[in-house]
Amino acid sequence: MSFRGNQGFTLIELMVVVVIIGILAAIAIPKFQDVTESAKNAACRSNLRNIAGALNLYHADNGEFPGAFQGHTWYGLYKISEYVHTEMVCPSTEATYRFRITGSDYDLFKIRGWDANCKRNHGMYNRSMYQP
Ligand SMILES: [Zn+2]
Repeated sequence: MSFRGNQGFTLIELMVVVVIIGILAAIAIPKFQDVTESAKNAACRSNLRNIAGALNLYHADNGEFPGAFQGHTWYGLYKISEYVHTEMVCPSTEATYRFRITGSDYDLFKIRGWDANCKRNHGMYNRSMYQP
Protein backbone atom coordinates (compact mmCIF):
# COMPACT_ATOMS: atom_id res chain seq x y z
CA MET A 1 0.00 0.00 0.00
CA SER A 2 1.34 3.40 -0.99
CA PHE A 3 1.49 6.03 1.72
CA ARG A 4 1.10 8.76 -0.88
CA GLY A 5 -2.31 7.35 -1.90
CA ASN A 6 -3.92 8.78 1.25
CA GLN A 7 -2.76 12.34 0.70
CA GLY A 8 -5.43 13.40 -1.81
CA PHE A 9 -4.60 16.00 -4.47
CA THR A 10 -1.63 18.34 -4.35
CA LEU A 11 -2.11 22.07 -4.79
CA ILE A 12 -0.53 21.85 -8.26
CA GLU A 13 -2.99 19.15 -9.36
CA LEU A 14 -5.95 21.19 -8.16
CA MET A 15 -4.66 24.29 -9.94
CA VAL A 16 -4.28 22.34 -13.20
CA VAL A 17 -7.89 21.15 -12.93
CA VAL A 18 -9.15 24.66 -12.19
CA VAL A 19 -7.25 26.06 -15.18
CA ILE A 20 -8.68 23.37 -17.49
CA ILE A 21 -12.23 24.09 -16.29
CA GLY A 22 -11.61 27.79 -16.86
CA ILE A 23 -10.43 27.21 -20.42
CA LEU A 24 -13.48 25.05 -21.21
CA ALA A 25 -15.82 27.69 -19.76
CA ALA A 26 -14.09 30.43 -21.76
CA ILE A 27 -14.81 28.46 -24.94
CA ALA A 28 -18.38 27.42 -24.14
CA ILE A 29 -19.92 30.56 -22.60
CA PRO A 30 -19.49 32.87 -25.64
CA LYS A 31 -20.98 30.18 -27.87
CA PHE A 32 -24.07 29.97 -25.64
CA GLN A 33 -24.41 33.74 -25.78
CA ASP A 34 -24.23 33.64 -29.59
CA VAL A 35 -27.02 31.06 -29.70
CA THR A 36 -29.16 33.14 -27.31
CA GLU A 37 -28.70 36.30 -29.36
CA SER A 38 -29.44 34.54 -32.62
CA ALA A 39 -32.63 33.05 -31.12
CA LYS A 40 -33.73 36.53 -30.05
CA ASN A 41 -33.02 37.87 -33.53
CA ALA A 42 -35.12 35.10 -35.04
CA ALA A 43 -37.96 35.85 -32.62
CA CYS A 44 -37.75 39.54 -33.53
CA ARG A 45 -37.93 38.77 -37.25
CA SER A 46 -40.94 36.55 -36.52
CA ASN A 47 -42.60 39.51 -34.77
CA LEU A 48 -41.86 41.73 -37.77
CA ARG A 49 -43.43 39.15 -40.04
CA ASN A 50 -46.54 39.08 -37.82
CA ILE A 51 -46.76 42.87 -38.08
CA ALA A 52 -46.44 42.57 -41.84
CA GLY A 53 -49.30 40.07 -41.92
CA ALA A 54 -51.42 42.30 -39.67
CA LEU A 55 -50.89 45.28 -41.98
CA ASN A 56 -51.94 43.22 -44.97
CA LEU A 57 -55.06 42.06 -43.11
CA TYR A 58 -55.85 45.66 -42.22
CA HIS A 59 -55.51 46.58 -45.87
CA ALA A 60 -57.73 43.71 -46.97
CA ASP A 61 -60.48 44.80 -44.56
CA ASN A 62 -60.22 48.57 -44.98
CA GLY A 63 -58.99 49.07 -48.53
CA GLU A 64 -55.99 51.11 -47.38
CA PHE A 65 -53.15 50.96 -44.89
CA PRO A 66 -53.55 52.72 -41.53
CA GLY A 67 -52.40 56.31 -41.93
CA ALA A 68 -51.89 55.89 -45.68
CA PHE A 69 -49.91 58.63 -47.42
CA GLN A 70 -48.41 59.89 -44.14
CA GLY A 71 -44.98 58.76 -45.25
CA HIS A 72 -42.96 60.40 -42.48
CA THR A 73 -45.16 59.39 -39.57
CA TRP A 74 -44.36 56.33 -37.50
CA TYR A 75 -47.25 54.55 -35.82
CA GLY A 76 -47.41 52.24 -32.85
CA LEU A 77 -49.10 48.87 -33.05
CA TYR A 78 -52.26 50.37 -31.49
CA LYS A 79 -53.21 51.33 -35.06
CA ILE A 80 -53.59 47.66 -35.95
CA SER A 81 -54.66 46.37 -32.54
CA GLU A 82 -57.41 44.23 -34.06
CA TYR A 83 -54.83 42.14 -35.90
CA VAL A 84 -51.73 41.91 -33.71
CA HIS A 85 -50.73 41.85 -30.04
CA THR A 86 -49.91 45.49 -29.29
CA GLU A 87 -47.67 44.61 -26.34
CA MET A 88 -45.22 42.81 -28.63
CA VAL A 89 -41.62 44.02 -28.11
CA CYS A 90 -38.22 43.12 -29.49
CA PRO A 91 -36.99 40.16 -27.37
CA SER A 92 -33.46 41.53 -27.38
CA THR A 93 -33.97 45.21 -26.57
CA GLU A 94 -37.56 45.33 -25.22
CA ALA A 95 -38.10 48.09 -27.80
CA THR A 96 -41.65 48.53 -29.04
CA TYR A 97 -42.36 48.21 -32.75
CA ARG A 98 -43.45 50.96 -35.06
CA PHE A 99 -44.37 51.07 -38.70
CA ARG A 100 -44.91 53.68 -41.35
CA ILE A 101 -46.75 53.82 -44.62
CA THR A 102 -44.73 55.09 -47.54
CA GLY A 103 -47.10 54.55 -50.42
CA SER A 104 -50.57 53.49 -51.45
CA ASP A 105 -51.81 50.18 -52.78
CA TYR A 106 -52.47 51.80 -56.13
CA ASP A 107 -48.98 53.10 -56.57
CA LEU A 108 -47.42 49.80 -57.56
CA PHE A 109 -44.22 51.43 -58.75
CA LYS A 110 -43.22 52.22 -55.22
CA ILE A 111 -41.38 49.18 -54.03
CA ARG A 112 -42.01 49.85 -50.35
CA GLY A 113 -45.69 49.99 -49.55
CA TRP A 114 -44.87 50.06 -45.86
CA ASP A 115 -42.02 49.34 -43.49
CA ALA A 116 -41.94 47.80 -40.07
CA ASN A 117 -38.67 47.69 -38.23
CA CYS A 118 -36.98 47.39 -34.85
CA LYS A 119 -34.57 49.91 -33.35
CA ARG A 120 -31.87 47.26 -33.16
CA ASN A 121 -32.18 46.68 -36.92
CA HIS A 122 -32.97 43.01 -36.53
CA GLY A 123 -34.75 43.31 -39.79
CA MET A 124 -37.19 45.26 -41.84
CA TYR A 125 -40.16 44.06 -43.75
CA ASN A 126 -41.72 45.87 -46.61
CA ARG A 127 -44.65 44.88 -48.72
CA SER A 128 -42.64 43.43 -51.56
CA MET A 129 -40.77 41.15 -49.12
CA TYR A 130 -43.88 39.75 -47.47
CA GLN A 131 -45.05 36.50 -49.00
CA PRO A 132 -47.87 34.99 -46.93
ZN1 LIG B 1 -35.43 43.40 -32.61
